[in-house]
Amino acid sequence: MSWLTNVVLPKIRAVVARKAVPDNLWHKCPGCEQMLFYRELEANLHVCRNCGHHLRIGAERRLKLLFDDGAFTRIELPRTPVDPLRFRDSKRYTDRLKEGQAALGPRSDAVAVAHGYIGGVPAVVAAFEFSFMGGSMGIAAGEAILAAAKEPRGAEAIRDVLQGSIIWVTWPTIAKKTVAYAALGLFHYLLRHRFLTVSFRPEVAEREGWKIKWWDFWFYISFGVAVTISVPLAGVLMVFTMLVVPATIAFLFTRDIRTLVLISWGSGALASLLGLWVSYVADLPTGPLIVCMYGLLLIVAGGLRKLGVGNVAGVTAAASTPH
Ligand SMILES: [Zn+2]
Repeated sequence: MSWLTNVVLPKIRAVVARKAVPDNLWHKCPGCEQMLFYRELEANLHVCRNCGHHLRIGAERRLKLLFDDGAFTRIELPRTPVDPLRFRDSKRYTDRLKEGQAALGPRSDAVAVAHGYIGGVPAVVAAFEFSFMGGSMGIAAGEAILAAAKEPRGAEAIRDVLQGSIIWVTWPTIAKKTVAYAALGLFHYLLRHRFLTVSFRPEVAEREGWKIKWWDFWFYISFGVAVTISVPLAGVLMVFTMLVVPATIAFLFTRDIRTLVLISWGSGALASLLGLWVSYVADLPTGPLIVCMYGLLLIVAGGLRKLGVGNVAGVTAAASTPH
């Protein structure tokens, strides 16, 4: 069976999926829906000749445009354990990663880091590759930023967007954000029965005649508010890591709401404190280190789970088939 699934099936899939026309011959402009010939688009620096829409460009292209004479040296990124949880939807996560790397070249990832000169000034640039698995950002991306930061004169401005400025926070900012988070927390606390039922027992919500789309809408509005007030402070990487990783860790061990909340908060606090401490002791950038600590904790949690810790009935089956 394993030979069939590992060797024969992928080959069949590859043949079936092969397209007669390469993907990149024509591009549809997201601005005006016009089909644009790729070579023409490239010559026009990825700006639509019809409506002037600026199409997304790849990281390699971005680096070429940014550095003097298009000359730069790519920085080798550290290898990371790619799949601590053995995620799988329609495809295995590791297969997706392989496909992404096959499409964009070996060792490609969600971030490309390079050094060179901009206007004669030495610079290090980290560019996001948004076409890479829909711009999946994770531990590898965090480590890439760390690699960029270790180079002399890391690109502070770009790092700021990704990392935020968590160690430059002032007391007035802390006060303002605390009020905002408290309001968000209260909103979720008051509506917790609705949100939890809609998320975990949609059939009950439906029977009660609730407008599920409406409750989803309010949930995602609050989600958007949380992201918006957090990103300037903590940066894109940390915010999304904090949103996803603690919940993932908690879901490895339990389905009980109270325990879920405790494990998420606990692991989040632990990872953040560890990141802050290591950053202070080793004098490394705080944001990426916190992200890496979340990754480390996720790997440890995955290991514990594998050793049979928290082996609650129902969790094993649910954890291996996420939906
Ligand atoms: Zn257009």
